[in-house]
Amino acid sequence: MNDIYDVVVVGAGVAGLTSAIYLRRAEKKVLVLDKMSYGGQIINTLDIENYPSAEHISGFDLATKIYNQAKGLGAEIKFQEVTEIKDNDDYKEVITNKGIYKSKAVILAVGSANRKLGLENEDSLLGKGVSYCATCDGHFYKGKNVAVVGGGNTALEDAIYLSDMASEVYLIHRRDEFRADVKTIGILNSRNNINVIYNSNVTKLNANEKLESIEVTNNDGSIKTIAVDGLFVAVGRIPENKIFENLLDLDEYGYAEAGEDCHTKTKGVFVAGDNRKKSLRQLTTAVSDGAVAATEAIKYINNL
Ligand code: NAP
Repeated sequence: MNDIYDVVVVGAGVAGLTSAIYLRRAEKKVLVLDKMSYGGQIINTLDIENYPSAEHISGFDLATKIYNQAKGLGAEIKFQEVTEIKDNDDYKEVITNKGIYKSKAVILAVGSANRKLGLENEDSLLGKGVSYCATCDGHFYKGKNVAVVGGGNTALEDAIYLSDMASEVYLIHRRDEFRADVKTIGILNSRNNINVIYNSNVTKLNANEKLESIEVTNNDGSIKTIAVDGLFVAVGRIPENKIFENLLDLDEYGYAEAGEDCHTKTKGVFVAGDNRKKSLRQLTTAVSDGAVAATEAIKYINNL
């Protein structure tokens, strides 16, 4: 089996690319697969200031550095969508939309996707008023009214970012307390065109080709309609483990059950990054998982 990879890494975010760096430094033959591009969740983050040594760096720049480092060390990186992985005991078969690859071990560093609100025309209004990425689409809403949904760091950072270009920003949160950090809440409070609406949910999208207004329902049952051109949904993310259910145990939220050693219930299958069950999902912990999963995969391969 000369055509067999030592490890196929699924996901070219920071966890997957870090795995590739460690695997190549151990001279393992590695293929990294990702759907569309490298970088994962951070690719649209404008400024990262909690990654040691970087002080301030954009997500794109950081991801590009890690990508170039992995490539420079000899990792093969292909942009193909993995649709299935079969466990054939002594080797794994990784099936993509463009081919089939064999490998001795697999690292699943697949991260997570945007959680949706589940509203009737949410999907059809994507790009017509509904967005999941303020830094990607914010500039379309210069001088217009927009709303953001959510109470975590992403939602507050999106509202702050949008307040620089939009006329009014409505931040709608389902509770009366944010889960974002204190520093970000402080910046939010200093902006006079951000209107916070607590204890409320967006319950309807009113559109005529494009989004025109949203229905906001308070937890007390009262309803109001707010005219907005854009709605930015920032209500967290969902791990992308579903298609690998044959290889993994998933918890109630869909995260892969695996300890700090990144081992899963399937021999030779490891998980790394945001799709693993853990207490803190940050760049630093994704990088850490990438290193651990690669090291465990190397041990596994060397003992075959
Ligand atoms: P998050 O912290 O999980 O927050 C999701 C928010 O959406 C919560 O406020 C939640 O409300 C709300 N929510 C969830 N489902 C909802 C629904 N169906 N309808 C309405 N609201 C809903 O997600 P995140 O903000 O994307 O952040 C993810 C992680 O990345 C966090 O650990 C965060 O600290 C980190 N992060 C860090 C930075 C930074 O350091 N600069 C930037 C962005 C993100 P409840 O509060 O009621 O649960």
